[in-house]
Amino acid sequence: MDFNTDEFFYGINKSLYYKTEEQKNEIKKMDPEYLTRTGTDFVLLPNSPDFINHNEPFEPMYIPKQTILEESLRREIERICFADTLLNKVVFDCADPSPFTKDVDPATYGLEVLPYYIPQSKEDSTLVFESRFESGNLRRAIQICDYEYNLILKPDYYTTMNTQWFYFSLSNTRKDVEYRFNIINMMKPDSLYNSGMKPLMYSEWGAKQKKIGWFRDGHEICYYQNNMKRKNGGFYYTLTFAVKFQYDFDCIYIAHCYPYTFTHLCRYLKQLESDPAKKNRVKRKQLCQTIAGNMCDFLIIGDFNNGKEKKGIVITSRVHPGETMASYVMEYMIDFLTGNTHEARILRENFIFKIVPMLNIDGVVNGNYRCNLAGVDLNRQWIDPNKKQHPTIYHTKQLVKKTKEERDLVLFCDIHGHSRKKNIFMYGCSGKDPNRKELVFPMLNRNNCSVFSFKDCCFLLQKDREGSARIALWRELSIINCYTLEMSFCGADFGKYEYFHFNLDIYKEIAQSFCLSIIDCYEPEQIKVKQVLEEIEQNSLKNQQKDDKNNSGDEGSDYSNDDPKEQAMPQQQQIQLQNNDQQLGSQTKKLKKIPLLPPKKKKGQ
Ligand SMILES: [Zn+2]
Repeated sequence: MDFNTDEFFYGINKSLYYKTEEQKNEIKKMDPEYLTRTGTDFVLLPNSPDFINHNEPFEPMYIPKQTILEESLRREIERICFADTLLNKVVFDCADPSPFTKDVDPATYGLEVLPYYIPQSKEDSTLVFESRFESGNLRRAIQICDYEYNLILKPDYYTTMNTQWFYFSLSNTRKDVEYRFNIINMMKPDSLYNSGMKPLMYSEWGAKQKKIGWFRDGHEICYYQNNMKRKNGGFYYTLTFAVKFQYDFDCIYIAHCYPYTFTHLCRYLKQLESDPAKKNRVKRKQLCQTIAGNMCDFLIIGDFNNGKEKKGIVITSRVHPGETMASYVMEYMIDFLTGNTHEARILRENFIFKIVPMLNIDGVVNGNYRCNLAGVDLNRQWIDPNKKQHPTIYHTKQLVKKTKEERDLVLFCDIHGHSRKKNIFMYGCSGKDPNRKELVFPMLNRNNCSVFSFKDCCFLLQKDREGSARIALWRELSIINCYTLEMSFCGADFGKYEYFHFNLDIYKEIAQSFCLSIIDCYEPEQIKVKQVLEEIEQNSLKNQQKDDKNNSGDEGSDYSNDDPKEQAMPQQQQIQLQNNDQQLGSQTKKLKKIPLLPPKKKKGQ
């Protein structure tokens, strides 16, 4: 590829940046809601790639190498001992002004916004990082060797924590060179990256030339405790991986999971509304505005033409912005429920579905992992949500209550991703029904879905989860079938997909089998329900409630307790690295907080 063309300048893809006002207007015409995303004080650059095309039907996990931890720690010690030989050059910061381009007029390059770094010549192979796009969250990139970079993620707004999700791009690659990236401010004590998971990547060149969408890549992957001390005690963790890129001067996106932005959702909903076959089956309504002023919509799906009495079902997702797979499953559920199949018709004739597809829009836009712009985990606010601080939770709770007044509300489910366990499973609530009917729906799911693991389900009521949707709504509204659906970021550890990463095909299977399980659960003959009730009886699952403790859900436990003592490392990783004046910690110094803009006032409000 040429170094400088109409499309590229110095190895950087121009389409990453706004070229002209006309280009902006063009985007706006196509997608009026895009560019009105609010929240941060920096511009959101044109959108990141959506293209997912499974060239490999199923991508295998990697087999962790026995010596990888030792090797990674050795590299870490070398970096500390030879700190004065490292380049330590900040080549990207999403908020600080760039010393490299501060005197350059963007118009010189026909652009409106410039990258932080512009290579000096064709020989300058410094990578050009970017994350100022929707859901992007790289704060800083520091070049430490020619082909090695330390990366620092932006914590969730108004928190000092919650680094787990990552999404950024890099340009000006050189092919067949081994690059290494170290994300050095992770906070969880353990990660699926040590159990076979690989990061997701996207090559602009590969997508264009070979129609390859997002794919798993990387080798020599390791997640370990580093020597950077956290203010509140304990240490940070590093995710390190090496990767070879296939093309020169390519632009690569790297993410923790398939990105799913608010823009993607808006486009999807627009398409849904304008589909002539579907528009009579679904109504799109406004729920409320978020703190930043983005509009949160909900859907009502059902057969609105027949007067038959219908039961109510409420499904929500993406309360945790980093759990993007929840949005894919939600989209497939909506597709199924509004579709043409016989089963979808049965569901619409017998149920009214109320669906809130994205509960934490501001978090999604700003690249948060867990919290909203008030800096709180919205899935701990369901007991008494605040109208101003947690508007989407407040209004969704009203919606659930109203549905309950209108009709028999038989099922509530909130969809999540799980960062430590493999498989698909559910959390429910035990206690109100001596027959343990809350087990029935998850067991029906197990029968319908090849990656659903009933043994990973948990029905325990944990004190620190009282504010979650599942427990709060179960207590207040006595909905027996009140669940969290959890999906691993990685893949399954049993069955035909063992050792493979989850992909869109599997998300589709999960969504469809969830819908089919609703039919099984409520069909008049109750054939399958009787079978699983028998199974519950026979296997004395009724008395197993206490044993669930071994399986207690850790959804959210990652950060809800910030006591480092609670976050014990596995023994073999508790190697204290030598303390050194020039430790890596110096790289996180001088990170000032990124301010938020007040919400934009919209007309008529
Ligand atoms: Zn979650």
